Amino acid sequence: MTQSYIIMIYIFCAPSGSGKSTMVKHLLTMHPDLFELSVSCTTRPPRGQEVHGKEYYFISVEEFQKRIENDDFIEYEQVYEGLYYGTLKEEIDRIESAGRQVLFDVDVKGGLNLKRILGDKAVSIFICPPSIDELRRRLEGRGDTSPEMIEKRLAKAEEELSYKPYFDRIVVNDDLNHAFEQLDAIIDENNDL
Ligand code: ADP
Ligand code: 5GP
Repeated sequence: MTQSYIIMIYIFCAPSGSGKSTMVKHLLTMHPDLFELSVSCTTRPPRGQEVHGKEYYFISVEEFQKRIENDDFIEYEQVYEGLYYGTLKEEIDRIESAGRQVLFDVDVKGGLNLKRILGDKAVSIFICPPSIDELRRRLEGRGDTSPEMIEKRLAKAEEELSYKPYFDRIVVNDDLNHAFEQLDAIIDENNDL
């Protein structure tokens, strides 16, 4: 089969703990030459084994402000109180000029903004947790988030779930293999793999 000429961008959104990173890692493992994750800037400190430049560019609030003034972000949000996250315009150029398709893992508002800006070039995908109770179990099970931050994330989850209808596609992440199958079908629709 021939490779599609359309370079798609995939935007992953969900309440924290729903499985965005798991979905993105699945695509990067299955198609290492096709996809690359856009690395965002954040003012939160690294968690667990996270490395500067891999999961995030970990920067100070002052540097984040400077980057806002320089118009470096295509979008940014204060996702949690005092914690800023932003998508760098230069990440899209870097990944596309390497011939790869961009994957975004961003919060729900950031994802809807990216979709508005990128239009038909992008597919917005909402990863839906089976329930709030399961979301709590997954956040607790990940073992790298403080109890206080878990409560903040769960408090935000209800509001984030209400944005689900505004996304192009929804993947329910209950059974993991079934979620991968749903995701693979979406990718197959948009790429001649
Ligand atoms: P997010 O990136 O949306 O915050 P993660 O991908 O880090 O979420 O997933 C949160 C936790 O839940 C991780 O420990 C992950 O291994 C686990 N997880 C993800 N999907 C499933 C699933 N379908 N069943 C059980 N655990 C899952
Ligand atoms: P975490 O702290 O768990 O890595 O991320 C918290 C939330 O911030 C997640 O929903 C994640 O998708 C989101 N996020 C990460 N990078 C960005 C970004 O560049 N912009 C926006 N709007 N959200 C982001």
